[in-house]
Amino acid sequence: MIMASSSLVCAGCGLVPPAFDEQPYPFRCARADDRDDVDHVIRRVLDPAHLAWPGGRERNPFVRYRRLLHSYHAARSRGMSDADLVALVERLDGAVAAVDGRGFVATPFESQGALAGALGLEAGRVWVKDETGNVSGSHKARHLMGVLMALQIVEALGLRPARAGPLVIASCGNAALAAAVLARAAARELQVFVPTWAEAPVVAELERLGARVTACPREPAA
Ligand SMILES: [Zn+2]
Repeated sequence: MIMASSSLVCAGCGLVPPAFDEQPYPFRCARADDRDDVDHVIRRVLDPAHLAWPGGRERNPFVRYRRLLHSYHAARSRGMSDADLVALVERLDGAVAAVDGRGFVATPFESQGALAGALGLEAGRVWVKDETGNVSGSHKARHLMGVLMALQIVEALGLRPARAGPLVIASCGNAALAAAVLARAAARELQVFVPTWAEAPVVAELERLGARVTACPREPAA
């Protein structure tokens, strides 16, 4: 099916993933196993001829900028209404807030607030953002929220069974903590693979959030 507003392509090799109905999880290039020196990163391409910059003022950025997400267009082209999509995101965000104590909001720039003052910045000359108030304490949850929304949309459309298979991440810090918060919010199983030197408080927090943690010793270099 041709997407009028959004399509996917591998930025490294140009491969176009199969249609959404065939491959609803197009997060990885099929040629990524090739032993080349190419970064096979799937990128979405928006068509500005069919898309205006979002002008809404919704508090949740995933609602405000939903029309910039490929999963939004994939869902809309298969009959999901805009209202149902917004409701799906807001339900998920509410569950995230219940787990983490905060949901997703735009982080404001400031030039004369507390952070700017603490940094000794001259008012109005430098703009800074304090990202430590994000879900799970870093920006990593923002990246993973887009993936989780795509999973939820695929399941809401009936293209895959609900919560089929565990989620998996290799990380030792912020990305794993973000994944653990989101997985818990969506009631999904998460497996985290960490190095043996991962910090104990991080591992404890991952386990408190319900993630299954596996420590992986480094293999000797070949
Ligand atoms: Zn590729």
